[in-house]
Amino acid sequence: MSPEMAKTDEEWRRQLTPEQFRVLRQKGTERAFTGKYVDAKDDGTYRCAACGAALFMSGTKFESGTGWPSFTEPAVAEAVELIKDRSHGMVRTEVVCRNCGGHLGHVFDDGPGPGGQRFCINSASLDLDTDAPPPLPGV
Ligand code: FE
Repeated sequence: MSPEMAKTDEEWRRQLTPEQFRVLRQKGTERAFTGKYVDAKDDGTYRCAACGAALFMSGTKFESGTGWPSFTEPAVAEAVELIKDRSHGMVRTEVVCRNCGGHLGHVFDDGPGPGGQRFCINSASLDLDTDAPPPLPGV
């Protein structure tokens, strides 16, 4: 984690919405099919909603039917940290933003791509940057 990202809960609470705080800082999970990016198909870069780090690219997003945005791989491997998670009586692999330590979701090995991974990510942890080109002058 970057040293400047060592914020207190109070600082994160001021910066994030209550739902973002619950997911990113308290490892919560949004209810399936309720997140704003479940069906999103816009092109762009999915950034961390807490720190802005580029996490996932729209080209790797796929329809998983799970109710959470799903990706076959991170934008770059270094963007995320994978942590063994034994909570709730399961053994899972938690996905965390490497830059700020924010909880993103979990990764499973039943994905459709060549890597076989399914990154199951909360919409609340993401901020889609559509990289819209500037309007042409005179149009
Ligand atoms: Fe982050």
